Amino acid sequence: MIEQPAIEAGLRETGKAIDMTVPITSGLDSSIDGSTWTGELGKVRWDYTVFFVTLHALALLAIFPWFFSWSGVVALLVGTVVFGQLAIPIGYHRLLSHRSFRTPKWFERLLVTLAMCTAQETPAHWVAWHRMHHSHSDRHDDPHSPRRGFFWSHVNWLVHESRSRLATFSMYEKYSRDILADPYYRWIERLPSPAGVFFLAHAVLYALVSTAICMFIYGNTAEAYQLSASLFLWGVVLRTVWVWHITWSVNSITHLFGYRNHETSDDSRNNWFVTLLTAGEGWHNNHHADPASASVQHRWWEIDINYYVICLFGKLGLATHIIRPREKRQAV
Ligand SMILES: [Zn+2]
Ligand SMILES: [Zn+2]
Repeated sequence: MIEQPAIEAGLRETGKAIDMTVPITSGLDSSIDGSTWTGELGKVRWDYTVFFVTLHALALLAIFPWFFSWSGVVALLVGTVVFGQLAIPIGYHRLLSHRSFRTPKWFERLLVTLAMCTAQETPAHWVAWHRMHHSHSDRHDDPHSPRRGFFWSHVNWLVHESRSRLATFSMYEKYSRDILADPYYRWIERLPSPAGVFFLAHAVLYALVSTAICMFIYGNTAEAYQLSASLFLWGVVLRTVWVWHITWSVNSITHLFGYRNHETSDDSRNNWFVTLLTAGEGWHNNHHADPASASVQHRWWEIDINYYVICLFGKLGLATHIIRPREKRQAV
């Protein structure tokens, strides 16, 4: 339920969904074209930078055979589905950012809790950034347009402090009021380094449970410790880095490479490779043309697995008010 939709931001409601097809101006130089962006980089966020670099360095350990196990590979694949498909694209993106379907509150909070374990910011922050992206796509106030360079749109925008505390507060006011109406999401916001806290908590829990299972099966042996290390490296470290990159590739690759079905006012593209990585998010030009829709499948072969999962949720009673593509909405 949308208690306080961010209508002030100019985000318009279409039926039950928030339609972000209409660009808004915030009065903050949004008339400046992104291709001529000349602004300064913000201060480097060293906490983010050190965390990103450390996790990438640890992920490289996966090249050593000692850390390899097929159980680790399965943990990576299952983790990618849970965190890289259910939590971020379906939870943070289609459910929270676009309200393209509804779920029982407990299920929404479960998806948000999983998303918090990916070290990708709080729901209010993620949603605010994403709605801002739709409102200013590839213009000055787009937080991650590749018109400022591929590396900027992929990760550099995350490690630079681009706005003051006051500006962040007003961004929340403008784009995330409906998210912050939920007491659980407000509680998350008040934690010190909330994404870090959730990430650490889930990593410790995962390590304890997986080590206990390995020791139950193999006893207190070197084999048990080796398998535990493999499960942690592949199932937490490598999976987190992998889910970062597939999420970031939607911001970078799909605004640079691919074809366009719709002449939208931004540079969004449909990219089959990113679609494969993200189970549907790569049909990004389709998404920008109709962001309210729960489906980004505009041609029969543009398979959108995330939408099928949402439909499956519907069959299980976990999703209602699923917004169909615009042509089908208008046909009714
Ligand atoms: Zn986009
Ligand atoms: Zn979106």
